[in-house]
Amino acid sequence: MFDKYGRHIHYLRISLTDACNLRCVYCMPEDVTFKPRSELLEDEEILRLVRIFAHLGVDKIRLTGGEPTIRPRLVELVRQIKRVSGIRELAMTTNGILLPELAHPLKMAGLDRVNISLDTLDPHKFHAITRWGHLEDVWAGINAAEAAGLEPIKINSVVTRGFNEEDVVDLARLTLDHPWDVRFIELMPVGGIAEFAQSAVVPSRETRERIEKALGPLQEVAGHDPRDPARPYRLPGAQGRIGFIDSISNPFCAGCTRIRLTADGKLRLCLLHDTEVDLLTPLREGADDETLARIIREAVWEKPWGHGLARNVIPRSRHMSQIGG
Ligand code: SAM
Ligand code: SF4
Repeated sequence: MFDKYGRHIHYLRISLTDACNLRCVYCMPEDVTFKPRSELLEDEEILRLVRIFAHLGVDKIRLTGGEPTIRPRLVELVRQIKRVSGIRELAMTTNGILLPELAHPLKMAGLDRVNISLDTLDPHKFHAITRWGHLEDVWAGINAAEAAGLEPIKINSVVTRGFNEEDVVDLARLTLDHPWDVRFIELMPVGGIAEFAQSAVVPSRETRERIEKALGPLQEVAGHDPRDPARPYRLPGAQGRIGFIDSISNPFCAGCTRIRLTADGKLRLCLLHDTEVDLLTPLREGADDETLARIIREAVWEKPWGHGLARNVIPRSRHMSQIGG
């Protein structure tokens, strides 16, 4: 599929649930409420849509949330998605907490790799950012993912002023001894936390300067995939890599190949635009595959270019947890 700007769209992110076992301050308000199950896509509905997307040329899928690992029957769903003809790569973004029990079965079911979110190595700060989480649970999850072969492990760190801007040095240091990609993400103003986020963004330039001041100059790694929003760097002698995802200060819209399916069955064409196309209603009203494929193709053609954050146009219709990042 192509959009009207000529971008080749072949990467689908599926949010499996809007619910989560944490409440990260940059993702959702504390008093968030979740959608009733009846409004969320069933396993069979997800699989049917995946087959249609695959037929339209999607070859890479990332499962996200909310927290994807809290979805019942996840392992079986992963197995079925991976069996769909045309799906070449199946990844997941998770907070890692449930990986000690799930990493091995997920790998056996066909999951290729995981991105795990971790914003600090300080247990007190971790607790404050997630509103109740325990750092050791995530650490156990990372180890379980590595032991299960869900590699390369990528660590996602959102940098939030007043919470963890100093912690980027310790996170970057992890790459010295581990073959992990640590990626620092600029905080995005989305949904109910938008005002907070606008006051707490730390530009990637500042994060990079902080890391280089403490650990030495970063070297650019050759062979950057232009579809990957994070250009890779390496500390001298490090096993792993460091990246920066600067959605605010350096948008990567020209290289965007993605679309998103929300847990309640809406096709979201850009993370930072509220434009969505409803797939759940036609699906439940009995639309055939050809009709659903036409709706998807027409929606993708209209995928927006760029975001309006610089002009203070904020996506407000959903929290990040309802989109999946
Ligand atoms: N629960 C899973 C997790 O935390 O990895 C998956 C869903 S979460 C919404 C996906 C990614 O979005 C995570 O890496 C998270 O850190 C990131 N994220 C959440 N809110 C964000 C925000 N306001 N700005 C930038 N990234 C954000
Ligand atoms: Fe949950 Fe992930 Fe959002 Fe944190 S970032 S509240 S773990 S969905």
